[in-house]
Amino acid sequence: MPKLRLAWILAALPIAALPQSTGIDAARISPTLYFPSAAAELESRNSLHARVERLAAEIPSAAPDALPALLDTVEQTTIALQRHSAYLRMLTLEDRSDQAARAAGDAVSADRSVLNATLTARLRQVPRDEIPSLGRYARLAELAHEDVQTFSPDAQRYRTSVTLPAMGSIAAAYGQLRMGDEQAPPVAASLLATLIDLQNRDAIAQGYPNAAARKYLSLQLSDALIQKTLAAVEAEAAVHREYQLLTARKSPAPPRMSLDEARRLILDSFHPLGADYTSRFAALLDPANGRLDLTGGNHRARTGTSIAVYDAPVAFFYTGFDGSLASISTVAHEGGHAIHREFMNVGGHPIYQRSGPNYLFEGFAIFNELLLLDHAARTATTPEGKANATEQFLRKLSHELFDSAEETAFERSLYTAAVGHAPLDRAAVDRIYRESIAPYESSLPEAVDSRQWMRKSLLFEDPLYLVNYLYAAVVAVALFDRVQTDHDFAARYQTLLRRGFDADTDALLASMDIRLEDPNLVKAAAARMRAKMADLHQ
Ligand SMILES: [Zn+2]
Repeated sequence: MPKLRLAWILAALPIAALPQSTGIDAARISPTLYFPSAAAELESRNSLHARVERLAAEIPSAAPDALPALLDTVEQTTIALQRHSAYLRMLTLEDRSDQAARAAGDAVSADRSVLNATLTARLRQVPRDEIPSLGRYARLAELAHEDVQTFSPDAQRYRTSVTLPAMGSIAAAYGQLRMGDEQAPPVAASLLATLIDLQNRDAIAQGYPNAAARKYLSLQLSDALIQKTLAAVEAEAAVHREYQLLTARKSPAPPRMSLDEARRLILDSFHPLGADYTSRFAALLDPANGRLDLTGGNHRARTGTSIAVYDAPVAFFYTGFDGSLASISTVAHEGGHAIHREFMNVGGHPIYQRSGPNYLFEGFAIFNELLLLDHAARTATTPEGKANATEQFLRKLSHELFDSAEETAFERSLYTAAVGHAPLDRAAVDRIYRESIAPYESSLPEAVDSRQWMRKSLLFEDPLYLVNYLYAAVVAVALFDRVQTDHDFAARYQTLLRRGFDADTDALLASMDIRLEDPNLVKAAAARMRAKMADLHQ
């Protein structure tokens, strides 16, 4: 008994008190990484705001021959604004109660939005045949033309006065729900049904069959592709059911690692990504460079995130590092976002080409986790360590691929089933949920617990976002597949990272011989899961 009790006490201790030598105390973002002092930041921010106001007044009436130079000025101003965003973000991550930094950050974002909106409006006035003369900003002008709202004036008014505020109230009401209350499921169902109805009407007013189809197109995907991918994942669902039966067993966690050991493990696993990638990652993870913060503690945001900036070192902040393999995997993921941004900065494409569909960002980051967990399993020095890493690899892959497929199938069915019908009720949502997950589950109760779908907050807060996770998984397993066989992988992958988003996603992925609709990608992932499960039985 006393022994058990001691173990319990140790487990309950705050994480920071456990491994004395994790080395995380030294891991802090340097306060002078972006500005020499707070006073210098403030002075620069004030003069930048005045510059934004002058530009916003100048842009709408800018003469055609003045546009190229003006676009360069807007670009430089955007880069400068982002450096302030990064600095202020760092302050709010380090101290959640810093209201002044939060308000200043909001003001900088507002300046950036004003600049964007004004510029987009001006670019729409550029006649199509003059767009090529804009050089590196030509694609931005094309996107501005494509983006024109297709709503009728009436539909636009309805959208502004009804749809958008109602969506905000639905997300807020969801936030107030107590999951344990008996009344919560019917209320959640009616919130969800109202949201779906609003979204579908809004999409139909724009000429789409439903809101799901609209969202998929905005992500450079299509409903036909989603159906193909879901069918491909469903065809391999047996491996997920086998995995579920296996999860009852759980190997003991190996000893926690110090930051130095974690760093070495990460860098070793990234060997297939090339020397440039690993040396950049090494620099990010070196506390002496003041670009990473792992210290945790009171007042600090509990999150993992990279801090985006275009003309200074990218930084990375994470509060959950405890030396466990799971937390090292998160470092590989979040640090991957930072290094991706760094490569885009080195690539030097215009700022508008350094953002794109979320599933690509996430796919690159999840790929890092697969590399890490696979490497940890292959190089573990004890049977327990090998089993633990193998289990974590399996959990990661099955969660990203199969749980995401369930969620995407569920949300898509909700939106397609609701078109042209009365809003869904709780029984209908429960039924659609049950049908959507049935192919993937090894055992399914007669009646589903509504709380299972109620807890998926993105359904209520960011409609149709979940599909991003499915394609992030597809991209990650595709890269993991290519890295095993492509001898030129490192060079091609680096080229891809540097390009940012200078082309459509299809073209970007084609440069790695990846096609999202290729069913073999899912087959290969399922085969890999089977092999890993066989490793566990040895
Ligand atoms: Zn991420």
